[in-house]
Amino acid sequence: MQAIVVRPGEPNSIHMRDMADPKMKPDQVAVKMLRVGLCGTDAEINHGLYGKAPDGDEYLILGHENLGVVEEVGKKVKGLKAGDLVVSTVRRPCKVCPNCKAGENDMCSSGQYTERGITRRHGFMAEYYVESPQYLNKIPKAVREFAVLLEPMSVVEKGIDHAFLLQRRLVWKPKLAIVLGGGPVGLLAAAVLRARGLRTVVVGREPKSDLRAQIAMQLGAEYVSVENSSLLDLQKQLGPPDIVIEATGSAKVVFDAMEIIGPNGVLCLLSVTGGSGVNEEPIDRINQLLVLGNQVVFGSVNANPRHFAMGVKDFVTIDKKWPGVMNRLLTNKIPWKDHKSWFTERGTGIKSTLEISD
Ligand SMILES: [Zn+2]
Ligand SMILES: [Zn+2]
Repeated sequence: MQAIVVRPGEPNSIHMRDMADPKMKPDQVAVKMLRVGLCGTDAEINHGLYGKAPDGDEYLILGHENLGVVEEVGKKVKGLKAGDLVVSTVRRPCKVCPNCKAGENDMCSSGQYTERGITRRHGFMAEYYVESPQYLNKIPKAVREFAVLLEPMSVVEKGIDHAFLLQRRLVWKPKLAIVLGGGPVGLLAAAVLRARGLRTVVVGREPKSDLRAQIAMQLGAEYVSVENSSLLDLQKQLGPPDIVIEATGSAKVVFDAMEIIGPNGVLCLLSVTGGSGVNEEPIDRINQLLVLGNQVVFGSVNANPRHFAMGVKDFVTIDKKWPGVMNRLLTNKIPWKDHKSWFTERGTGIKSTLEISD
C-alpha cells in the first residue's frame, strides 16, 4: 500500500512511500481509509517540532483525524462487518498509570501513552490500517459526509463535558456561552453548545461576511468580529458568560478570556500553543476576579472513547437540527497525490481533508 510518512524531528521530510499492507490478527479489523482531516498538529510534525516514530521504525505514518470503511473482519471479532463506516480513536493507554488502567487514557499521568499519527504509533494517511474493534466507532450513514470531523469533535466534547462535570460543584444553569475562535474547533464547540440549548456567541477575527460567521449563524449562534473591539467591550455588551471556550491558538487571548468569565463561571482552554511568548498581564486583577468570582480555568486535551461516542450522537442531532451545516466546514478536499500542496500552502479554508479513496 501507499502511505504518507515523515521522519520525526527532520523538517519537511514528508513523502509518500510504498510498503507492505498491515497484517490483521484474528481479533482485529482491516480498515480501508476514505479520508483524513489535516490540522496544525500534522503541520507541526512535518516541521520537525513534534512527533515520534514507533519503536524500531525511522518513519511515522502521519494522520490522526480519520474516516474509513471496514474491509475485513477477523474471526474473533463481533459487532463489526465489512462495509461499516468507522472512525478510530487516537490515543492508546500506557501500561503503568492508574488512569489508563481505569480506561481514562486521555488523562494519562505517566506520559507513556502512544497516539496514532503523532507519538510512537502509525497514523491514518495510508490506504489501510488494522485495529482492535474496541478503538473503533461505528458511524451512521447519515453523517458520513462530515464524520472525518469526529476526532476534533471528540476534543470539543471532552472540554464541554469536563466543564459541566466541574460545575457540579454548584447549582449551575448556564445560559450564555462565548466561543473564542472561529476555526474547526470553535465552530464544533458552538454546535455542541447550541445543541445543548445555550445562547452562544462565536468571536472571531474574520468579518461577518466570512463563511465561519455564516456557519455560526446557521447554528443559531451569534457571531462577533473582534477586528475593532476588545473582549472586555464585548462582555459589557453581552453580560458575563457562564462558560467560555478558548480555541484561537493565541495564548494572549487566554489571559484576556480570564477577565471576562462571569461569577461562578468556567473557562475551558483548548488551544495548544507552541512558542515561548512572554507578555505583561494584569495579574492582580485577574487573580482577584478568579478568586472573588469562584471561577474555574482548566485545560483539556485529547478525548476519552466516550467523548467519541458523544460526538457521534451530537453529529446526528446537529445534522437533524441544522441540515448540511457540518459539511460546510470541509472547505478543501485535496486529492491523495497532491498531499504536499497543503503542507507548503495552507490556504484560507476552514478544514482541509486528504481524499484517500471514494
Ligand atoms: Zn487534529
Ligand atoms: Zn497512562
